Amino acid sequence: MGFCVNCGNQHHDGVRFCRFCGTAQPSEQLLARLRSEAEQIRLLRIQMQQQQVNAQNDAYARLEAMRQQSEAAARMNNQQYRSPGW
Ligand SMILES: [Zn+2]
Repeated sequence: MGFCVNCGNQHHDGVRFCRFCGTAQPSEQLLARLRSEAEQIRLLRIQMQQQQVNAQNDAYARLEAMRQQSEAAARMNNQQYRSPGW
């Protein structure tokens, strides 16, 4: 079963025209191509999201390293450490 690209009513696979609104339906070949393009876009999005997470983790790791360095420096100077408010 498929759905009309125009009115959304359900119709049998392989029909060329919707029996409700008469709109020509995309061929299985076209649908298969669109599905594979949609799948590629989905995978790209997942990759980009993962890269963003990695970049955020990197930034957090750098901030944490800086915080520890300043903490250590403060201890060495025997000064009270004040959080920069991160
Ligand atoms: Zn239709």
